[in-house]
Amino acid sequence: MSFLTNSIENLKKEGVYRELPINEGPCDAEIVLNGKKVINLSSNNYLGFANHPRLKNAAIAAIKKYGVGAGAVRTIVGNMDIHEELDQVIAKFKKEEAALVFQSGFNVNAGVIQAITTDKDIIISDQLNHASIIDGVKLSKATRAVYRHSDMDELERILIESAGQYENTLIITDGVFSMDGDIAKLPEIVRLAKKYGALTYVDDAHGSGVLGERGRGTVDHFNLHGQVDFIVGTLSKAIGVVGGYVAGSKEMRDWLLHRGRPLLFSTAMMPAAAAGIIEAFNMLETSSEYTDKLWENARYFKEKLEKLGFDIGHSQTPITPVMIGNEAQTMEFSKALLYNGVYVSGIVFPTVPKNTGRIRCMVSALHTKKQLDKAIEIMEQTAKKLGIL
Ligand SMILES: *Cc1c(COP(=O)(O)O)cnc(C)c1O
Repeated sequence: MSFLTNSIENLKKEGVYRELPINEGPCDAEIVLNGKKVINLSSNNYLGFANHPRLKNAAIAAIKKYGVGAGAVRTIVGNMDIHEELDQVIAKFKKEEAALVFQSGFNVNAGVIQAITTDKDIIISDQLNHASIIDGVKLSKATRAVYRHSDMDELERILIESAGQYENTLIITDGVFSMDGDIAKLPEIVRLAKKYGALTYVDDAHGSGVLGERGRGTVDHFNLHGQVDFIVGTLSKAIGVVGGYVAGSKEMRDWLLHRGRPLLFSTAMMPAAAAGIIEAFNMLETSSEYTDKLWENARYFKEKLEKLGFDIGHSQTPITPVMIGNEAQTMEFSKALLYNGVYVSGIVFPTVPKNTGRIRCMVSALHTKKQLDKAIEIMEQTAKKLGIL
């Protein structure tokens, strides 16, 4: 194992080696991390659903009815009525013809991209797309091209250059870019796709439950219903549970039931998870209080950080990066914040490009103003001590 020991030694030399923090309770605004009570600014639990009593009760009731495991993959006997119901709930929420749930968002990208492309196709992908998209594209036999982040001129140039050479062209983008919080230029992507006859695939993991009416997502935010072919989302972030889905046409769902490999070869989602998720969508459909609170908190937090002189990048969503640059200093800042009572994870290469290290603050609907004020005060003091501010 010396090849691994050497690699680990290199991480330590670069100052990016880390141990996993341990959370001793539920994912809330304040958590007990490594035995210490801290303000949690690191989760994707945007709406506070991960520990919400209504979701918990729905999950408990489902455990009593269905047990804990689905018992098989969906294509054999793991397809319970609650999974079918969940597919329909999601299709309705996303205003699409159909939807299909997978065990995680990662699994959706790993399974769907390869199932809808062949070696006669080309995939054109944004440079900052999520790792699961990058891996999903690698599993496809299609030709690949990457355009600079949100650079529509380069996307169009690739579309022109590849015209006539492939059966299908698939443009893939994150809806909201997870490390910067900016929104994809979806209206322009859709316009170009129409002009050059391409298909569109949007992974809205950080947009669903956050953007659009009642959190319907980026497609709804831009009012592009019916104009994006594959709409991917996760059930693990704003929805607070676990799982992923793709929404779109009936034909798409039908095809994936036959060729979506994670669906064919990995056991169906825990039924209690499906029940909790259905309750989450019920709550979103009947009230905007959760999404409203999320945005109120995000605006409040960002305004205060900006006033203090922090560089918070160009986020358009509740994702709030605080740009540091140097990898080791980023990790040092994150460590010092934890010591002082705020948990914000440092994000460095290879998750983001070299020298663009940042701490990524994730505000949620759960945070009180008092908690946010306290976190901001600690961030200010710690940054001044480290020469960041
Ligand atoms: C988080 C994320 C995923 C993975 O979702 P999981 O449900 O956690 O597996 C996929 N795509 C994007 C863009 C993400 O941000």
